[in-house]
Amino acid sequence: MTFNKKSIEDVSLKGKRVLMRCDFNVPIVDGKITDENRLLGALDTIKYVSQNGGKVILCSHLGKVKGPDESKSLKIVSERLSQLLGKNLKFVPSDVVVDDSVRSEVSKMNEGDIILLENTRFRPEEGKCEEAFSKDLASICDVYVNDAFGTAHRAHCSTVGVTKFVDEAVCGYLIQKELKFLGDSVSNPQRPFVAILGGAKVSDKINVINNLLNKVDTLIIGGGMAYTFLKAQGYSIGTSLVEEDKLEYAKEMLQKAKEKGVNLLLPVDHVIGDKFDNNATRKETVDQNIEDGFMGLDIGKKTCEIFRDVLKNAKTVIWNGPMGVFEFSNFNQGTIEVAKAMAESNALTIIGGGDSAAAVNTLGFGDKMTHISTGGGASLEFLEGKVLPGIDALNNK
Ligand code: AMP
Repeated sequence: MTFNKKSIEDVSLKGKRVLMRCDFNVPIVDGKITDENRLLGALDTIKYVSQNGGKVILCSHLGKVKGPDESKSLKIVSERLSQLLGKNLKFVPSDVVVDDSVRSEVSKMNEGDIILLENTRFRPEEGKCEEAFSKDLASICDVYVNDAFGTAHRAHCSTVGVTKFVDEAVCGYLIQKELKFLGDSVSNPQRPFVAILGGAKVSDKINVINNLLNKVDTLIIGGGMAYTFLKAQGYSIGTSLVEEDKLEYAKEMLQKAKEKGVNLLLPVDHVIGDKFDNNATRKETVDQNIEDGFMGLDIGKKTCEIFRDVLKNAKTVIWNGPMGVFEFSNFNQGTIEVAKAMAESNALTIIGGGDSAAAVNTLGFGDKMTHISTGGGASLEFLEGKVLPGIDALNNK
């Protein structure tokens, strides 16, 4: 995929009202933001637009609400963002996000000023991409900037609808960076190109597996999803997670890998437990097979070694999904080993958001990776080869 969308550098910003869709959907526990990576990720674009004379109007969703909900107000984000920007940012809350008081605030803005609107999901139309809210958003801006990669796979008013009613719809630095790494690595990778997929379910990653088999040299499958593949090959998997209705699909993918000459690697040993619990009776298997009454909760030592060797020689690595139940300290070693091997490798290393991004950051390997995607669902859809609606809607160069 060649990326030919206009960016903030391709349009004139001076004196323009610039509506910027960010992804400020941060985790908040007891009134505190517990992970501010998404705020940090937005700073470069905000600063660029502000320093180039734009009147910056920020918007974002927060949480899963479908109407006004005080507990999901962006007020807390506005306070932290002000500190991070080192600049006073004005929060202009409204239960309908855009109303006359917001319009009046916007009309008083000077070049370089920054304001933040209330949670876009306070408007029930947002998720349905309805015209009324899309038009409201468009009515307060001259230029629309999308920098919310994490929601680019959703066609909402603030990601897609608004673009129909503005002349200039462009992307910010964050989306540009995501597409550069995810896009270039998938369409034009330095080889050997290795993808590592893990996590709970095959069904969540069906199209990712199918698409990546057309691109990679090696596909590593670990985590809960590996057991469906192992069962499809006739191994005993005990009480491990399995999707019976995906056994045929797993067989097809194993066959496809063979036909495409892709090295598809599955665990050759496991760390198993007698129940889904950190304090389960813990054992290590000697081979692929798992005894009755036990379930695979992590990849074993031999598997870690094999995966490490493959990663040593790779030039591009993409990882999505943990190798085991990494939330349990007795079963997180496989995920740690893969993160470590990626951190030590000279390859271009890309983490496809979600749980693997959290794991890598928690383990302290974040700064050792080339790129950690800010979008779990969006990066997965991207790896499926899908066109993301929020990106598709932007103006071409
Ligand atoms: P996903 O959201 O599909 O990336 O899945 C992440 C979840 O998969 C994590 O919560 C892991 O605990 C879970 N997981 C990984 N390996 C296993 C396994 N062997 N059995 C059950 N769940 C697993």
